[in-house]
Amino acid sequence: MENKLTFNKYQKSKPAVWSAEDMSLAIELLQSDPLYPRLPETRVYELAELALNAGAGNADEISKICDCSEPLRLARTLNIRVLFDISLNYKAGGLSILSSYSHKPPTITVFENRLRLFREKLPKKDKTGRIFLSNLTNICVAHEIYHHIERQTFCFINLAYKAPVVDFKLFRIEKSMTMLSEIAAHSFAKKLMDLPSLPCIIQEEYRGGF
Ligand SMILES: [Zn+2]
Repeated sequence: MENKLTFNKYQKSKPAVWSAEDMSLAIELLQSDPLYPRLPETRVYELAELALNAGAGNADEISKICDCSEPLRLARTLNIRVLFDISLNYKAGGLSILSSYSHKPPTITVFENRLRLFREKLPKKDKTGRIFLSNLTNICVAHEIYHHIERQTFCFINLAYKAPVVDFKLFRIEKSMTMLSEIAAHSFAKKLMDLPSLPCIIQEEYRGGF
């Protein structure tokens, strides 16, 4: 299956129209990137849109290839292990990390213990809150599937913007904009699961990351 993953080209799919809400959430994420202060203002919107399109385009394509848009089943189809951490060890990685991906072997870990705390804080009254609440585990899995696809295709959206951090004459070290990957992963989850907005909206209630 992995060999068939050839679809992670930055802007292959036709550009979607993004709501003002999604766009401002994406820009907010970008602003939290350490490289943001070095990003020319004129490129902010363009890069946010590029990342949003990459995530949504990949969701479209992978759900067609695998004929599945259910995150846990999709993970199984792509041979990704999904582990649920129910231990009470909250410390590793910090409370705000709800899930993670590691590639050897491809494994998604969902920190169910932390999700439980997160669920208690999510607003249950409004419709959007309820949708996110009932899908939290799947949202985390979908988000991490995007990181798997990046890894498998070596097509990293974060490389769309790089800035030198050390510049010697013979070589230079560049850093990439990690938050571009995060925007794309949220956009992937939104599109795959047909969510009302980028899932990072729930972090307004509970500051943290995926
Ligand atoms: Zn992520």
